[in-house]
Amino acid sequence: MFTRSHLRALTATFCLGIVLLSTGVSAQSPTPVAPPKNKYKPADDVRLGREAAQEILKQTPLLTDASLHGYLEQLGRRLVGVIPVPLQQKEFVYTFDVADMADLNAFALPGGPMFVHRGIMKASKNEGELIGVMAHELSHVILRHGTAQQTKAEKFQLGALAGQVIGSVVGGAAGSLIAQGSSFGVNTYFMKFSRDHEKQADILGAQLMAKAGYDPRDMASMFRTLEKEGGPSGPQWLSSHPNPGNRAVYITAEAQALKVAEGLRPNAAAFAAMQTRLASLPPAAGPRKAAAAPAATTSPRPATSIEPPSSQFRGYRAPSGLQISVPANWQPPAGGSALMFAPQGAFYQQGNSTGFTHGVEAGISTSQNADLQRDTQALLQGLMQTNPKLRLNGGYQSTAVGGRPGLAATLSNLSEVTGQPEYIAVFTTRLRDGNLFYLIGVAPDAQAGQYVDAFARVRTSLKLND
Ligand SMILES: [Zn+2]
Repeated sequence: MFTRSHLRALTATFCLGIVLLSTGVSAQSPTPVAPPKNKYKPADDVRLGREAAQEILKQTPLLTDASLHGYLEQLGRRLVGVIPVPLQQKEFVYTFDVADMADLNAFALPGGPMFVHRGIMKASKNEGELIGVMAHELSHVILRHGTAQQTKAEKFQLGALAGQVIGSVVGGAAGSLIAQGSSFGVNTYFMKFSRDHEKQADILGAQLMAKAGYDPRDMASMFRTLEKEGGPSGPQWLSSHPNPGNRAVYITAEAQALKVAEGLRPNAAAFAAMQTRLASLPPAAGPRKAAAAPAATTSPRPATSIEPPSSQFRGYRAPSGLQISVPANWQPPAGGSALMFAPQGAFYQQGNSTGFTHGVEAGISTSQNADLQRDTQALLQGLMQTNPKLRLNGGYQSTAVGGRPGLAATLSNLSEVTGQPEYIAVFTTRLRDGNLFYLIGVAPDAQAGQYVDAFARVRTSLKLND
């Protein structure tokens, strides 16, 4: 369920710039950290986190071992006990569970539930490393990054909290452009953070560690451990917590400004006992098998039953101010919240995913590289991971997207909905906050000629107004 997939990369994020309030920070003073703008109430965090936790527990078995749970719990309590008063939320309920999963992952949900995979407990070299990753996770909760992220996404009308969202994927089982169904939405949403949020969680995490009696540099050391132990595809944890760059450097600088609390000390004996106990258990159960996906509800049909794009265009405006014009015979999906437009008959339902065979979808992907071409490449690689038949034709061309310097790429795919080759156009540009804006056009290859112009007109109509 939480494998490395592009779904995370497609999480919509808009930074509003309220991040680290660094006011000429010297090495002597801890960096002030303020929660980003958030239109949700703390009680919403609690409700949404609980809903997400229920989804997660359908697929994630917990380890009920009392000594391991107790160990994790007391580490968690040490951190909760030092949350700065202005950041305390009386509604939040902090829980700490061990997931019976061997992979290197840990995550915390809005309002308080935290899950630490036993794989990450095993990989940690000392108690400081383990509590370091927990302090980072807890900081996301305290700073309410999950709902802050949603606040930004809604600005661009890119998602609905409990519903489907997040972006589009080409593929999955269908090998066509599919908007991911709701069952993944909430979970992936709250577990992919922007680099600004990452840095905030590192800084606040370092401060919590020092107050709880741990050297914050152990957190930086844990990130190195994760990078090393993550295997060829990289550690899962880092795919949802992207490295903002210079992580070790700024954590070390912050550590120098902090005083590690006296009296409280890491408990090496308890950590060693935890490792021994972990090693004595049977191997991790791994993810629960999800119920078999329902059979496709759409049978292959000839793509020619779809009306060609109208030469008349109609404009749409998102609440954020984003403007887009599409052929007048294209509509957004009924009840959908994504920026998707397709002609009648082109939307389909497959399993619990909806998608389309003709049309466009716009979205935002978190920038990983601060470089348009590399971010575009990362987006396409994400799409290809779940679509083995997807191929890039040629290279990238420079083009204007929303009046800004952008890139265009053309891909081919084999649609399992129609059984026919598919033409896919991808356009990207950079948003002011550094993230990647993308527009993806899809049409059957045989009709590509009718769509190339329509996609170009949609691209030139874009006004991002960010
Ligand atoms: Zn993070």
